Amino acid sequence: MADFKTLDDLDLDGKVVVTRIDINVPVEDGRVTDTTRIDKVAPTILKILEKGGKPVLLAHFGRPKGQPNPDTSLRITVPALEAALAKTVTFAERPDRSSIDAAPADAVILVENTRFTAMEEANDPQMAGFLASLGDVYCNDAFSAAHRAHASTEGIARLLPACAGLLMEAELKALDKALGNPVAPVLAVVGGAKVSSKIDLLKNLVSKVDALAIGGGMANTFLAARGYSVGKSLCEHDLTDTAKEIEANAKAAGCDILLPMDVVVAKDFAANAEHRTCGLDEVADNEMILDAGPQTVAILASALDVANTLVWNGPLGAFELTPFDKATVQAAQAAGTRCKAGGLTAVAGGGDTVAALNHAGVAQDFTHISTAGGAFLEWMEGKPLPGVEALKGK
Ligand code: AMP
Repeated sequence: MADFKTLDDLDLDGKVVVTRIDINVPVEDGRVTDTTRIDKVAPTILKILEKGGKPVLLAHFGRPKGQPNPDTSLRITVPALEAALAKTVTFAERPDRSSIDAAPADAVILVENTRFTAMEEANDPQMAGFLASLGDVYCNDAFSAAHRAHASTEGIARLLPACAGLLMEAELKALDKALGNPVAPVLAVVGGAKVSSKIDLLKNLVSKVDALAIGGGMANTFLAARGYSVGKSLCEHDLTDTAKEIEANAKAAGCDILLPMDVVVAKDFAANAEHRTCGLDEVADNEMILDAGPQTVAILASALDVANTLVWNGPLGAFELTPFDKATVQAAQAAGTRCKAGGLTAVAGGGDTVAALNHAGVAQDFTHISTAGGAFLEWMEGKPLPGVEALKGK
């Protein structure tokens, strides 16, 4: 397990705790339309208060591109934060240590968008120093921003006693169980549109897991590399050598590659398009593969039955279009059932995965669903996450 401190390890009594959170929530007509991220980080803020600390919250919001911009002011999140905490939140456009010290001991202070200056994304030492000067302790609860080495996620962590918040801690523990120190056999399921966006991820997984099931559009590139004709399917023909290389790496590492054995094809990329299930060598030139077939799902279910650990990213078909959601839904349900029965640790995340598992109605059955997007994918690629690295050994 990564060597980092948690809120329980540090004395926060009477300390100002500079806390990086992710409240980059969707907004419409001047109102926050989904408070999930705010609700999820509330326990960390409340725990800091409970331990006698004064939280000073840092976050980014939207894409102000290094310039102050009223359209991306964090002020808009204050009512939702106050509702989640059942407390008044003070908004600080220009924070300084003396006003923070002058605020009541149990105040919660939200600092304006960290990305209103280009120094944030440049991880400028001056900016990191300024943010560190606002408090005594640093807490990072923004796993979803941990793949970025910014002043508020990385630079500051090097300057103050630092720890992970509750969300970050939960995420790191779950990820460690999935790929860091998993119980074998480990099955990875990777789907989605294209191989090109997941080359590093696939290369990392074949060296780490016992079996890798590849589905979705990206499986077509692997099928083409094996010599099958995929008609007018989404397929990156220029990447067939990469697919072959990944298969060869898998073989050398003792990782079984599971590709579709049967497929659902249609002539149009549309919901309820006329379709049929066929073998791999039966795809006509004017057809496209939009989902895996029932035999493939059965093989995947058997692989799930023997796995102790599952890591999942990406849908197995064009799941937004019925009935091409079937393989994704059935495989997700098989995983959910095994998780509920206690036999499987299942971690999923990245891109459309959360939407796909919600669509299958099994998100709550999985051990952990990461909503971190880019950070989750970089973790699956085996890349060190700067925001996490900076917490280590502190
Ligand atoms: P990604 O963001 O790479 O995880 O890709 C997710 C997208 O891949 C979803 O929008 C799916 O509809 C799409 N997808 C999955 N399988 C296929 C397929 N066989 N053909 C076309 N698109 C697909």
